[in-house]
Amino acid sequence: MENNAEPKFEILQMPPKNTNSVLVSVGGRAVIFDPWGRVSDWEHVLDERNLKLHAIYATHGHSDHISAAPDLSKSNNVPWFLNDADKDLIMWGNPLLEYFEIPTIKPGFTEPKNLVQGEIYVLPGIKMITIESAGHSAGSVMFYFPDFKILISGDTIFHDGVGRTDFPGGNNIQLHKSVQKIKEMNLCDETYIVHGHGLDSTFGWLKHNHPMFLMGDCHCCNNKCCDHNNCCCDCNN
Ligand SMILES: [Zn+2]
Ligand SMILES: [Zn+2]
Repeated sequence: MENNAEPKFEILQMPPKNTNSVLVSVGGRAVIFDPWGRVSDWEHVLDERNLKLHAIYATHGHSDHISAAPDLSKSNNVPWFLNDADKDLIMWGNPLLEYFEIPTIKPGFTEPKNLVQGEIYVLPGIKMITIESAGHSAGSVMFYFPDFKILISGDTIFHDGVGRTDFPGGNNIQLHKSVQKIKEMNLCDETYIVHGHGLDSTFGWLKHNHPMFLMGDCHCCNNKCCDHNNCCCDCNN
């Protein structure tokens, strides 16, 4: 079967439905973002589409974004990438996998390579910018594809809310700064945003509807030092 040379972005909700994973492919090659679910289901997706896996990227280390990553990495002999600051979370999330009856990540798992801020080509013609966005976890990142106007936000921001900050490494003030960073990217309105869970958005939708985008900016610190509700400087904005 001839593989289409046109790059393709597919949002997949692998069973048991919980997380938005993304499969990016071009010319028979693929990379996966946030591979939730079982390895066998992912192998089936790759086989069905006649795709060869090249790498796996995770927005952060919570198990609902990496459950299939170590074993898929091993079975396909490809690297998986996670920010080093989230490495301690890899097995921490096993109780969630038990809850969903998905195989847990065992000691001796295939280690991720460190994922750092910057620009790379994940596949021919597919440029990706990794943006650090700590807050939901210490090592959270987002992935932006400028030529396709697509942002994978992980759990930093959702359609109508933000990621929780009460897990290890979570930090409310950092999360707020990361959301501010998204605002400052000032992307075109039609930029498509795939969130870690729930409905997708566009940048325009967020601009006009998201509670944190609608919040007024603090004049003296531009929200850079504020938490959700309280400005840390004296201007009371
Ligand atoms: Zn998470
Ligand atoms: Zn999540």
